[in-house]
Amino acid sequence: MRGGVQQSHGEHGVPMKSGLRLVAGLLLCMLSSLAAAQARMDDVLKDFSEHGYPSVAAAIERLQSVEDVPGQNAPLARRAAYHGVLLDLSRGGRHPQVHRSSAAALQLMADKEGCVRCRFDLALSAFREGVINKATRADAEARLAEMEILQRQLDSRDALRKLLAAQAELDRRKGNYNDAIALLVRASELAKLEGRNAAQVEYLGLMAALNADRGDPKRAIQMGNEAYRLAEEIGYLVGRPTILLDLGHAYSLAGERTKQRAALEKALALVGDDPDLLRDRIIILNNLADFWLSQPGGYAQTLRYARQALALAREQGLQREMIAPLANIGIALAGMGDVDRGVAVLRESVELSKQADIEVYTLGITQELVRVLREAGRYEEALDALQTITELQEKRAVQARETAVLELQEKYSAQRKADEIEKLAAQNTAKQSQLEAESWKQRLWIALAVILGLVLLGSWQSIKRARLANRKLTHVNAALALQSATDALTGAFNRRHTQAMLDGLQQQMEQATSGQSIGLMLLDLDLFKRINDTRGHAAGDAVLVETVRRLQAKLRQNDVVARWGGEEFVLVLPTTLAAALPLVAKKVLDAIGGDPVMFEGQAIPVSVSLGVVAYPMMPGQSWAAALGLADSALYLAKASGRNQAICLTRVEVDAACSEADLARLREAAQAEWQMVEGPVQPLHGGGPEHRDAPPTQG
Ligand code: GH3
Ligand code: MG
Ligand code: MG
Repeated sequence: MRGGVQQSHGEHGVPMKSGLRLVAGLLLCMLSSLAAAQARMDDVLKDFSEHGYPSVAAAIERLQSVEDVPGQNAPLARRAAYHGVLLDLSRGGRHPQVHRSSAAALQLMADKEGCVRCRFDLALSAFREGVINKATRADAEARLAEMEILQRQLDSRDALRKLLAAQAELDRRKGNYNDAIALLVRASELAKLEGRNAAQVEYLGLMAALNADRGDPKRAIQMGNEAYRLAEEIGYLVGRPTILLDLGHAYSLAGERTKQRAALEKALALVGDDPDLLRDRIIILNNLADFWLSQPGGYAQTLRYARQALALAREQGLQREMIAPLANIGIALAGMGDVDRGVAVLRESVELSKQADIEVYTLGITQELVRVLREAGRYEEALDALQTITELQEKRAVQARETAVLELQEKYSAQRKADEIEKLAAQNTAKQSQLEAESWKQRLWIALAVILGLVLLGSWQSIKRARLANRKLTHVNAALALQSATDALTGAFNRRHTQAMLDGLQQQMEQATSGQSIGLMLLDLDLFKRINDTRGHAAGDAVLVETVRRLQAKLRQNDVVARWGGEEFVLVLPTTLAAALPLVAKKVLDAIGGDPVMFEGQAIPVSVSLGVVAYPMMPGQSWAAALGLADSALYLAKASGRNQAICLTRVEVDAACSEADLARLREAAQAEWQMVEGPVQPLHGGGPEHRDAPPTQG
């Protein structure tokens, strides 16, 4: 069986697409408006977001020639909008001058005029550049954290949507396909609300690609077609090739080769020779080469397409983009009987993939090399090549087991899962000592077995399937663990699970580079006993359930809401910087105290008090000590009138202390905190029920 080398635009990390698709217009409509009268900026931006645009270069030109280009004296919002869109359009090294000058303009507005939106756009752009250039995950996460803070300050739907899409991008990178899809569903709901059709096309297209990633080609095809229909409906030209590329990939996964070819050929016609879409062109050409490998007598076509792709990639200096075309050329040459040249080209491709550190490629292409060598009767060379595969697979297996152990440690109750962890760890060590003990001869046998296995299983599709199965297993485990991790009444995480998770976080924090911290909040409902006493226990229960619902709705997906005891909750905010904690605290106070809880036709006013800390507040601090401090802060919040949060920003003791101690520490300049007030409750009129705290002012 021949297996070619296909690129999905996701595997390939070509998120420049998302930018391309972000803003967007009808070619005709644009050309005519250019030719006729000059348009106004707002109309152009509106057109972009409703219809997309025909090419990046045209979009930039159109925006730069609006009749009301905002000059230095224009209102800040207009200047920010103008440069924000230009910055996004020129991303990915396509129009470096435009990019530089818009970035500089935004930076100036951010520094001199405190423009938060400018800062957000700059962070988003840096995040995307980082994803394109494969910046480290920590970098990307730091950018996201920054964006999150800015988004909270901005409180705009537009920024939230972009933040969600960026989070999805990162989740995709991490292989968290389901999380990424969930985020994109939210983003596309927001896009729909705002009438941002072009963005919606983008998100639908990404969801299609994600479904292909997670091995669901049917759904991928369905979503891809939906995205394409919408793109067609609004006249969005730039977005379509990407969608077709993803569709082609999904069709090939589903074995629908004819449709794959049609989608790819259409995509090729659509990208034309737009210089901004060269990367797409390369991938499309290569995937056509791969398609022809699957057709009897298709070698000549494979060579034709793969050579075009290779030439373009070489011309552009895109090394990564050369790997797959080279591999396809090698496979075709060998298939046509020129084994020597085929092998040489395949080797070149393997070498490049190693340099670029793309293991999936190294594995898949080496497998092709082994097959070619084996079919040519060059067994010794085949064995040599196999060595690479065995080594890589061993490395991957060890990594996978280590990750599994780590995940278990982090996520699940240490006690319950201790035996699973032990089992996995034991498997790990057993495998390693077994490997060490094996003689070279035994390895040869393994290699031979692997050859057979690989040939039988049909090359790297099987590896993909195996990875998918592994992932599914992890999800089943996660679902089982979830049941034992949650509280029956409210569905929040229970105390034991949360303690185990905090243990895991504590370990991470000890290893983390300095400066990283997470947010911990201790939340206690105000005068809850009164609710029980005056309206009954069932009303109290309903308030607890509604509290958790509101918290979960308001907080981010990876924030943890845990029921710590009775009517006390702990919130763990893993990607929230210390500076953002008062903002989040305000959000929590408003979410719970904003509207009364309805129960059996009665409106029950509710409020909470919060103690908030960044963890760790000092090196080596335990979570228990940090939570102790949060408890002190909570006590202070209760004593100072309830319905408020005390956010400790600095304390020079390590564990819980009394309110009086806190006051003393503050006087000695050894403690600082920020107080955040909850919402005024009209139903209550600030009545006694919520303002009858003991008069103990700090
Ligand atoms: P404060 O503002 O000082 O916190 O006043 P409070 O009345 O809320 O005082 P406290 O936190 O000590 O009260 C906790 C009460 O919560 C006592 C207990 O009856 C009630 N409670 C604990 N668990 C549950 C539960 O599962 N359901 C209901 N309905 N009530 C609970
Ligand atoms: Mg209470
Ligand atoms: Mg309590």
